[in-house]
Amino acid sequence: MKNECSVVRDILPLYLENMVSEETAESIKEHIENCPDCAAEFEAMRSGKTVEKIGEEAQSDIEAEVLRSIKNIRKKFRKKVLRVGSLIAAVIATVLIAGGLLLHFFPVYRIAQISLNDYYSKDQMKMVLYIGSASDRREAQSVLRLADKAFNDTRHTREENEAEYGLLARYATPTDSYEDAAYNLHTLELWSAHLEENEGWIWVYYSSETYAHLGNVICGSWRIPSLWKVEKNESGEWVVVDIREHP
Ligand SMILES: [Zn+2]
Repeated sequence: MKNECSVVRDILPLYLENMVSEETAESIKEHIENCPDCAAEFEAMRSGKTVEKIGEEAQSDIEAEVLRSIKNIRKKFRKKVLRVGSLIAAVIATVLIAGGLLLHFFPVYRIAQISLNDYYSKDQMKMVLYIGSASDRREAQSVLRLADKAFNDTRHTREENEAEYGLLARYATPTDSYEDAAYNLHTLELWSAHLEENEGWIWVYYSSETYAHLGNVICGSWRIPSLWKVEKNESGEWVVVDIREHP
């Protein structure tokens, strides 16, 4: 190899990248045209670079393709996860609603509130396991309204209360026992109603506080489950004929 050739070969990579001066480029071009060895070397270099470039492009194509499939898989997976997620949410919601409805109509937890003592019979306790039919509950409202009135009453004597409310008079605050009674606050909840043709049972749950004029509590009962036996009187109204309440 001539000395000039070795100089040209050293510069060839720069020449290939157009990183030489115009002057140098011109003389290298001239040399290559007259020297088959260097021309061959130059060709080899140039095609090698092309191959490398094509390889790069091909690789980036493959990468793009792989990325695309990963994205697709992810998208599909996400969709699937969403679908499974909403399915699980629907199942949970259904179970919760069904459970809520079940506990509403069959409130077993109330048994715990009355089974602490053995005052009530099993049959009586069983009655709180079901709130009762809609029509039984509707009919029981008349009894609840009278009881509500009795709870509110702090204006009459025991005798007057008994005449007005019958057995429910026990929930009024009689003036002959509590001279100072001013007003009453209470909650009264119908737990269940089970009515036959002319008689039936009502479970109620109440708390009651009677206050004096100065605002102090003078008597009260708190969180009391109570079982009322009711009968229809001659006018077809439900009347409380027995109250079973743990003493
Ligand atoms: Zn040469």
